[in-house]
Amino acid sequence: MVKAIVGANWGDEGKGKITDLLANDSDIVIRFQGGANAGHTIINEHGRFALHLMPSGVCHENIVNIIGNGVALDINKFIAEYEDICSQGLNPKLMVSDRVQVIMPYHVDFDRYEEERLGGKAFGSTKSGIAPFFSDKYAKIGFQVSELFDEESLREKIGRVLEIKNALLVNLYHKDPIDADELTAEMLRQGQLIKPFVADTQAFLFDAIKEGKNILLEGQLGSMKDPDMGIYPMVTSSSTLAGYGAVGAGIPPYEIMQVICVTKAYSSAVGAGAFVSEIMDEEKAKELRDRGGDKGEYGATTGRPRRVGWFDAVATRYGCKVQGATDVALTNIDVLGYLDEIPVCVGYEIDGEVTKDFPNPTKLNRAKPVFEMLPGWKSDIRGFTSFEALPKEAQDYVLFIEKEAGVHVSIVSTGPKREEIIRR
Ligand code: GDP
Repeated sequence: MVKAIVGANWGDEGKGKITDLLANDSDIVIRFQGGANAGHTIINEHGRFALHLMPSGVCHENIVNIIGNGVALDINKFIAEYEDICSQGLNPKLMVSDRVQVIMPYHVDFDRYEEERLGGKAFGSTKSGIAPFFSDKYAKIGFQVSELFDEESLREKIGRVLEIKNALLVNLYHKDPIDADELTAEMLRQGQLIKPFVADTQAFLFDAIKEGKNILLEGQLGSMKDPDMGIYPMVTSSSTLAGYGAVGAGIPPYEIMQVICVTKAYSSAVGAGAFVSEIMDEEKAKELRDRGGDKGEYGATTGRPRRVGWFDAVATRYGCKVQGATDVALTNIDVLGYLDEIPVCVGYEIDGEVTKDFPNPTKLNRAKPVFEMLPGWKSDIRGFTSFEALPKEAQDYVLFIEKEAGVHVSIVSTGPKREEIIRR
C-alpha cells in the first residue's frame, strides 16, 4: 500500500513529524521532489533532527529510505547530513535512484547571482541551486548521478555545458569563468562519495509493491508552492503534489491509495508572494511566530523568520483538492492556546466581491482576507492524546477546519513530539 504525505499550504506544515509518526508502519520512505532547500524537524527518542535532504524514515532502523529520481540531489549535503545522523547514533538504510540528477556547484552560484541581480524583485530563494538545477534538467543539460561514474563522457559533457554557463557568468554576472578540469575532478570526487548508495530504485520499488510492502511518499513544501497549481511564479521548481509522487519516485500512479494532507492550525510562509491571511500587525505576528512549532517559526534551513498568518480556509480547501487529499493531519493546534479569539480566513474579497474559491495567481494578488472569529480555549493543550479531552472550543476549532477543508481530519498534532498526537 502506498501513502503520500504532502503539504496543503506553503510548506512547514509539520510534515516531518507526521511522516516520522507514520513511518512506524512503513517499510520504505521516499522523497520524490525538491531538494535540500527545505527542512523537516523531527523530535524523537534519538534526539532532534533537522533533515533537509534525508527522508524522514532515517530515524527508524528497519526502514529503507529512498532519494527518488525527482529529487535535486546535492551530494555534499547528502553526505554531511548522513554523517551527522550517524554521529547521533543512527544507522539509516539509504538508497539513491540511479536516475536522480545532481546539483552542480554552479547551480548554487547561479541561484545566488540571480537573486542578487534581481535585487528587490528577488524570489527569496534559499540559494540551494534548485531553480537553476530544474531549469537545466528540463533544458536537457543536467547530470544524472550515473554520469559521474564515467570520466571520459563526463569531461566531454562538462566542457559542452560550460560553454553556456561561462558565457552567462562572464557577460551577465561579471564573474570568473569555471575551469572544466577542476569541475570534472570535483564531480568525479562527488560521484565516488555517493556511489555506495546508488541503485536501481525503480526495480526495487516494483518488487516491493508486488510484495505488498508499505511505502510512504514524502512531499516537501506544499500545494501553494507547486509550479502549476500554486502561486506562480513565487513557487518552487518541482511539483509538490502527491500526483507527482508517482513520477518522482517511479511507481504506478494508481498505487497511491491514501493522500494525507498536512495543514497547520495557523499559517506560515517563506519567501515572497501572495499570503492573504498574513498577520500585518508586527507585534501580533511576532507573538505567534515565537510560539509556533517547537522553536518558533524560523526556517529549518535558513533560520530566517517565517511570515505568519491565521488559518486560511480558502487556500487549505484548494490545497487539499489539488493534492487529492483523503485525510487531513492538523498540526500545531497547541500553539493557539494563548488567544481569546482566533481569526480564521473564510473568504477572499477580490474587486469588491467575496469568494470562497482560490483564484489564479493574477487575481490572488488583489485578494483581501475575510475573517471570522472563533472562540479560543485559553489553556495549554500540548501533549493531549484524546479528542474528547480537548476543551470544547478546541474540538470545535478542529471540526470547523474539517468542514471548511471538506476532508476528514484523522490526525491532530498537539505538540512537536511523536507521542503528542490525537488519532480520530
Ligand atoms: P515540515 O517541513 O512540514 O516538516 O515542517 P517543519 O518541520 O519545518 O515545521 C514544523 C515545526 O513544527 C517543527 O518545528 C516541528 O517540530 C513543529 N511541530 C510539528 N507538529 C507540531 C505540533 O503539533 N505542535 C507544535 N508546537 N509544534 C509542532
